[in-house]
Amino acid sequence: MKYVITTGGVMSGLGKGITTSSIGRILKNKGYRVTAIKIDPYINIDAGTMNPFQHGEVFVLKDGGEVDLDLGNYERFLDTELTRDHNLTTGKIYKEVIEKERRGDYLGNTVQIIPHVTNEIKERIRSVALASGAEICLIEIGGTVGDIESMPFLEAARQMQREEAMQDLVLVHVTLVPVDCQGEQKTKPTQHSVKELRELGLYPNIIVARCTSALSLAVKEKIALFCDVPASAIVSAYDADDIYHVPLIFEKEGISDYLTKRFKLEKNDNKSRWRKLVERMDEIKEGGETISIAVVGKYTDLRDAYTSIRESLKHAGIACGCNVDIEWIDSENLNGTPEHVKKSLGEFDGILVPGGFGERGIEGKIDAIEYARTEDVPFLGLCLGMQLAVIEFARNVIGWQDANSSEFGETPHPVIGLLPEQYEVTDMGGSMRLGDYEAVLTEGSLAHRLYGSLKMVERHRHRYEVNPEYLDEFGSRGVVFSGKNMNRMEIVEIPSHRFFIGCQFHPEFKSRPENAAPLFRGFVEAALGRLSETA
Ligand code: GLN
Repeated sequence: MKYVITTGGVMSGLGKGITTSSIGRILKNKGYRVTAIKIDPYINIDAGTMNPFQHGEVFVLKDGGEVDLDLGNYERFLDTELTRDHNLTTGKIYKEVIEKERRGDYLGNTVQIIPHVTNEIKERIRSVALASGAEICLIEIGGTVGDIESMPFLEAARQMQREEAMQDLVLVHVTLVPVDCQGEQKTKPTQHSVKELRELGLYPNIIVARCTSALSLAVKEKIALFCDVPASAIVSAYDADDIYHVPLIFEKEGISDYLTKRFKLEKNDNKSRWRKLVERMDEIKEGGETISIAVVGKYTDLRDAYTSIRESLKHAGIACGCNVDIEWIDSENLNGTPEHVKKSLGEFDGILVPGGFGERGIEGKIDAIEYARTEDVPFLGLCLGMQLAVIEFARNVIGWQDANSSEFGETPHPVIGLLPEQYEVTDMGGSMRLGDYEAVLTEGSLAHRLYGSLKMVERHRHRYEVNPEYLDEFGSRGVVFSGKNMNRMEIVEIPSHRFFIGCQFHPEFKSRPENAAPLFRGFVEAALGRLSETA
């Protein structure tokens, strides 16, 4: 097994996740089986209980793992499916160590960070890497070098650097090279950050320097001299048009040559698929039509909260040959008169209502859905977005003004309800329906046409669902529940509408740059006015 460990210096938000994913893609392009592990030094067991305002989107894996959004980047760049074991946190490691201690596994020894916690970290990394069947495993250590929380993980990395053969482990350090007011690229933050790393006994092999434009040779040589890394292993990670350009930029910067030599890689390089994808994106950017989509949500100030939706719309744009402009609309600002809603949404080619939790902002989302339904604007509702579409229909078409979800309080018409007996509630992380579930699609429905098959599997994260008691009232007014899992309604559509579809699952987690999620592709096609009969 070969390991690529990524650490970060200077400050957070430099793009360690994209760096890790891009290196992974380069190695995959060389024909290797690649996997990735994200280490989050926080004490939470997983990201499931974390507020998207603080930490960005919670990404959901096929096994129901609720994980850091970087795992979404790994899945998209590597075109793979990971499991919850690929996200390590301090909480998970300590829980295991404490359980072992209680079982008496440490035979009376004093349990300490070194070696017990660090051994647990190394064992987890190695066993996850092995179990994945990969030849190369990327490990991204979250946070910034120097943070108290990440110390045990950096110490485990130090031990691994010593235990693994030279040709089996590469340490990549991501830093920042800012520009001063005279326009000069400054290396001091990088020097300091590498010094800090070396104080911990870690020696970087590759330095990825985030910068606005490519580093000059002189700057690379200066970093090389101070940081003990050859200039050829210093990578300018300059601002890219799009994250999918980054593997090609890194390739040009020589990272691929370095890894080939160091890891003694022999397989053939096949960059052409990824290059084709990027060329297609560039062509679309140059000459493609542009559609605009309104995403009506509540976490709109923090773009990271909807990373997978943004990426999925991009993938759908690539599939349909168009640019997708996204306008993030805060549903709390929509709550008003129909004229106000029309004024806010009148210019868009499609309206998307994403998932969410809690009551805040739902009335504005319902107004947006009513607008999309009555004005025949293509609509895609994801999870809460689907539930609100059902509520909107119940209120405004069936006439149950009090229809609501039991998530938002008692109501005589709980068209969305909780089926608690079907969940085993263990703790805060265990009370939802999570991960992959299959749905059976109605023959001839829009969903069937989009998926091109009568069965499909998508990822879930919800507690509430369509209340089966009301199905007849909806059916008699032209609503079709076209995707079902036993008595669970997975997809709702209105066939008389141009494109009106809501899903209980999250198709955004399975969308890939070269393989857009069917519902997103259909939505963008409809927004372009090109949705064909056969979809
Ligand atoms: N809050 C809703 C539920 O728990 C929707 C969840 C979501 O959109 N992910 O069912």
